Amino acid sequence: MKKILIGTHNKGKFKEISYLISKKIKKISPQKLKIKSPKETGKTFSANAVLKANYFSRFVRFPVISDDSGLCIKSLGGKPGIYSARWAKKYGSFHKAMKSILKQMKNKKNRSATFVCSLSLKYPRGKIITVTGKINGSIADKIVGNKGFGYDPIFIPRSKSITFGQMSKIKKIKIDHRYIAFKKMKKKVKIF
Ligand code: IMP
Repeated sequence: MKKILIGTHNKGKFKEISYLISKKIKKISPQKLKIKSPKETGKTFSANAVLKANYFSRFVRFPVISDDSGLCIKSLGGKPGIYSARWAKKYGSFHKAMKSILKQMKNKKNRSATFVCSLSLKYPRGKIITVTGKINGSIADKIVGNKGFGYDPIFIPRSKSITFGQMSKIKKIKIDHRYIAFKKMKKKVKIF
């Protein structure tokens, strides 16, 4: 494989996925090809990852990789989940969405949460491979750290005492949900 389209408009995700793919493969963004995002109409992470990979694949003749990911909080019934990006829009920013989450969780004893990532790889006119990676952890009491993106500053991965937002990029990338999904993908395909 010489090049791949990383089907996301999210700069944080683009950087993480790029880092996980071999340096020898040229990474193309949808912005570069002026391709807009599809509507995320799926009801699950994997349905949305497949939907994105199929959509972006219509514009290119080389492989496409797409992810759908989000933060599932147990005491909020699994929310924001597949609506993680949409919550940021609804509240006005990620910072405001995180503030609202912390408020909603003020009296909750159970702070368990899971970051989930479904990854789909689609070959041109060919098959599609989908895997899912998860990392368990908990929601911090406040917003801490200015590294990473999205909900990183409120998520403390299991067996760590700092949030993703406090972790160096390299450390986060080597343990997170996207990395776990990638490891599964690498076992299924030998192209990376
Ligand atoms: P979508 O997959 O495009 O629907 O967007 C998923 C949303 O989940 C992102 O916009 C982030 O808000 C959040 N998210 C997914 N992965 C991460 C992560 O590794 N760190 C922080 N937030 C994330």
